[in-house]
Amino acid sequence: MSRERQPAAFLDRDGVINVDHGYTYRPEDLVFVEGAPDAIRRLNEAGYLVVVVTNQSGVARGYYTEDDVARFHAHMQRELAKAGARIDAFYACPYHAEGNVAAYRVDHPDRKPKPGMILRALRQLPIDPARSFLIGDLPSDMAAASGAGVAGHRFHGGDLDDFVAAVLLQASADNSPI
Ligand SMILES: [Mg+2]
Repeated sequence: MSRERQPAAFLDRDGVINVDHGYTYRPEDLVFVEGAPDAIRRLNEAGYLVVVVTNQSGVARGYYTEDDVARFHAHMQRELAKAGARIDAFYACPYHAEGNVAAYRVDHPDRKPKPGMILRALRQLPIDPARSFLIGDLPSDMAAASGAGVAGHRFHGGDLDDFVAAVLLQASADNSPI
C-alpha cells in the first residue's frame, strides 16, 4: 500500500521553463528558457517529481482554450523528451475573477498566489512536502509556495540549470544528517 514518497520540484511555467511571450499557447511559440531542458533532466535524475503549476488566465479571458493549453503541454513534453527530460504532472489554472468567459469567471483557490494547485498535487501524488520546493519568477509564485508549506526559490532569469543545480546543492546540505 505505502508508496515511497518523493521530493517534488514545483515549477512555474511561463518565465521559468518557457520564455514568456504573454499568453503563450501556440506550440510553434515554445522557446525554452536557457538551460530548462537540462534543469528538468537534472531534477528527474535527482529523484524529484517535476510538477508544473501554471496560471493560465488566457482561458478565462477567451484568448485560448483548455485544449490549447493541453496541446502546448504535450508539445513541451515531446521537446523535453528529445533532451531526455520529463515533466511528471501539469496543473494549470484557467480561472480568473474578471474573465470574459462565464464558465471560468471564478475567484478560484487554484489561482496563484493561492496554493490550490500545489495542495492538490500534494494530495494526488506521492510527494514528501518537507523535501520539496517551488521555483517561480513572480511574488505570486512565492506566496503560493508559502501557502502550501513548501520552500520557494525566486528565479530572476539566466540559466535555469545553473539555478537548479544551486538549489539542489542547498537542499542536500539542508537534508544531510548532522
Ligand atoms: Mg511565471
